[in-house]
Amino acid sequence: MTIENNLNTIRLSLPDGVQLVAVSKTKSNEEIMEAYRAGQRIFGENKVQELVRKWESLPKDIKWHFIGHLQSNKVRLIAPFIAMVHSVDSLKLLKTINDEAKHAGRVIPCLLQFHIASEESKFGFSPDDAAQMLSVIKLSEYENVTISGVMGMATFTDDVAVINQEFSNLNRIFQNLKEVFFRGNDNFREISMGMSDDYLYAIEKGSTMIRIGSTIFGERKPVTN
Ligand SMILES: *Cc1c(COP(=O)(O)O)cnc(C)c1O
Repeated sequence: MTIENNLNTIRLSLPDGVQLVAVSKTKSNEEIMEAYRAGQRIFGENKVQELVRKWESLPKDIKWHFIGHLQSNKVRLIAPFIAMVHSVDSLKLLKTINDEAKHAGRVIPCLLQFHIASEESKFGFSPDDAAQMLSVIKLSEYENVTISGVMGMATFTDDVAVINQEFSNLNRIFQNLKEVFFRGNDNFREISMGMSDDYLYAIEKGSTMIRIGSTIFGERKPVTN
């Protein structure tokens, strides 16, 4: 299977309104260009240095999405070009993105990442922490970010019931936040959930953005950095 074939197979399974983020972390410029030539324009990366290198050398109409844990002190490096940050998991990070976006003369769309999996290691807000943050900040003072929705990762498991329950949970979190904090705000509309092994379940539970790596590009080699 080629990257183009893989992309086309995935596209055929996507309902209208679901965007595909091609997760290109660890993949080469050549592999990314193969997807680009097949029409893919949204790519996801999770390491700042690697992303900056790729942004510098690849076509400028690529929309780069940051999908990994982002350290505040590295936001400046990606603020001039990043199209969306999926992984905002603290007020400090949101503030920093707002400041650096302002510095770069941009408005950066952001998603709030929620911890929906049973694994300990995944980053993200709890619903209470997010509600607490949103009730204390004045969104009108954050002119250089838009909060565009939520993101989450399900537990890595074969148990479909667990996956479905976690994706339903993220959808419920999204609906609650919309109701309480973003009513009538059309920017708040994205639910980023679903990866190679679980994206079909995520779509059934209302995903609007799936993030797919290995099903497009093949398995990643273990990384050492
Ligand atoms: C790596 C990664 C993906 C893609 O994973 P695959 O299983 O290769 O599709 C999606 N989302 C996040 C946050 C990732 O880090």
